[in-house]
Amino acid sequence: MKIFDTHAHIGLIHEDPIEQLIIVQEAKQADVKHIISICNNLFDFFQVYDNLKTATHIYHSIGVSPSEVSHPGKDWERKIEEGTQMERVVAIGEIGLDYYRKFGNKDSQISLFVRQLELADKLGFPVIIHNRDAGNDVLEILKEKLPERGGILHCYSENWAYAQKALELNLYISFAGNVTYRNAKNLHETALNMPLERMLIESESPFMVPAAYRGKRNRPSYMPATLEFLAQLRDMDVEELGDILYNNACRFFGISE
Ligand SMILES: [Zn+2]
Repeated sequence: MKIFDTHAHIGLIHEDPIEQLIIVQEAKQADVKHIISICNNLFDFFQVYDNLKTATHIYHSIGVSPSEVSHPGKDWERKIEEGTQMERVVAIGEIGLDYYRKFGNKDSQISLFVRQLELADKLGFPVIIHNRDAGNDVLEILKEKLPERGGILHCYSENWAYAQKALELNLYISFAGNVTYRNAKNLHETALNMPLERMLIESESPFMVPAAYRGKRNRPSYMPATLEFLAQLRDMDVEELGDILYNNACRFFGISE
């Protein structure tokens, strides 16, 4: 079986560099062949990148998340440009809008989001998009500003009607452990009806632990539970679905294996 975890906050699962290497090795043993490591700010990005530089099955995304809107750091745009030159950096993200936690204000979040969408387009990178309670604004902005290489709506949390609009923009939709929750009817409907060639999966670890591991801190090695749930929902063989989603991720990020 082959699984591609398109979104893991390895630096938030554990601060210790040795523990981080253990986490990604353990994931590999659970058939998670590749992981995209995500950081919310640039300081963490360069640190986690350094910690994981011997783990060549791990790829990286660089960006400033909406949680950092009031302190993106000095020269943040130049640092993102530098980061995208580094080996195995394959995306800009996570970027987006979060109106749930009211970071900064809407205008400052929108400005940070748009500047990074423009940067991604200029640098030729795809984007990983965070949306919490900001679905309409995210979609309206992407209609104008989605970079050439496209984007992922990560940890999908909207309904099927919204997904159809996102699919029209050629966005990918990534499901995290919350799709396994019994009451997540909107997610089940979306996962059942959407075209498989646009679907991805992720751990969003340490958050969004699959139902089978309730009460635990999420890790990429729990990904098979999410894949198995989706395979059952779509009435498919687990390995077959795993391969399709794995290949989708490779295609999206421009990774050859
Ligand atoms: Zn995340």
